[in-house]
Amino acid sequence: MLLRGRIAPTPSGYLHVGNALSFVITWLWVRKADGKLRLRIDDRDTLRSKPEYIEDIFKTLEWMRIDWDEGPQTPDEQEHIYSQAGRGGRYDEVVTQLLNTGKVFACDCSRKIIQTHNCSCQGRSLPIDIPDTALRIVTPNVAIELRDSKRGLLEVNLNNKLKDFVIRRRDGITAYQLFSLTDDLDFGINLIIRGGDLLSSTAAQLYLASLMGATSFAETTFYHHSLVNDDLGLKLSKSAGSLSLKTMREQGITPEEFYLKISTMVGLDHPCISLDEMLNHSKAIDFNL
Ligand SMILES: [Zn+2]
Repeated sequence: MLLRGRIAPTPSGYLHVGNALSFVITWLWVRKADGKLRLRIDDRDTLRSKPEYIEDIFKTLEWMRIDWDEGPQTPDEQEHIYSQAGRGGRYDEVVTQLLNTGKVFACDCSRKIIQTHNCSCQGRSLPIDIPDTALRIVTPNVAIELRDSKRGLLEVNLNNKLKDFVIRRRDGITAYQLFSLTDDLDFGINLIIRGGDLLSSTAAQLYLASLMGATSFAETTFYHHSLVNDDLGLKLSKSAGSLSLKTMREQGITPEEFYLKISTMVGLDHPCISLDEMLNHSKAIDFNL
C-alpha cells in the first residue's frame, strides 16, 4: 500500500522546532517508503490565521529544503485553491453525519463557565442551530485504544482530557478534531506524525472516525514524538525567547547547523548536515523520540 503522509501546520503563529521535528520525521518516513507527502495548511480558524504565518510556512520549508508532492506550492495557491475555507460544505456534511448518530448535543456555555464548571448542556436538549451555540460530542467513559509506532498499544480515556469535545465552535467554525480527521480521510492519509501532546487528539479522532464508520482511520500509522526543547542547544541571543524557526533564521543559524542537531535528536548514529544525508543514513533511524 502506498504510504501517504502529511505535514499540517497551523498558520496562527511562527513555526517552532516542534513543528520542524514533525516535518523531518514525516519527510524521512515518506521518502524512505517511496510514498507521497502532502502539505496541508490548517487555516480553518479564519480569526487566527494570518498571511504572514502562511508565508512563514513556505519560507521555513524552503529553508529546511523539504519538498512535497501534493498541496499548495505557494501562499497564493494556498489562498485560492487549497484553503480550508473552500471545504466548509464538506465539514458541514460530516457534522450532519455525526448529528445522525445521536451523540451530538448543543452547548451555550461561555469559556468562563467551561473553565470553572463542567458543562451540563447534554441534558438540556438545546436546539442545534441557534447562534453562539457549540456542538459537542458525547465521549464514552471507556478507554480508546491507540496503537502508536513508538509507544505501542495505549489506552486513552477522553473523559480525562477531552470530555465531550467540541466539533463545531460557538462561532460556527468547525473544530480542529473534525476538520483534521475529515481532511486525513478525504486525502487518503495513512501516516500521521505529531507531538506527544496530541495523543488525546488522536484518540478523539479515532472515536469520531468510529462513529462515522470510517474504519480505515484505525489502520493509520501513528507516531507521537517527544516534545523538544525549543532552542536545540543552539547558541542564540537571550532575547530570542521561545524560539521560532524564523528567529533562528534571522540569527544566522544555517540549515546545516540545524540538521546537525536534529539528526542527533531523531536517533541517527551519525550527525548529518542535510535531509538527504539523513535519508542516506536512515537505515539507522529508529525515530527514538
Ligand atoms: Zn455547555
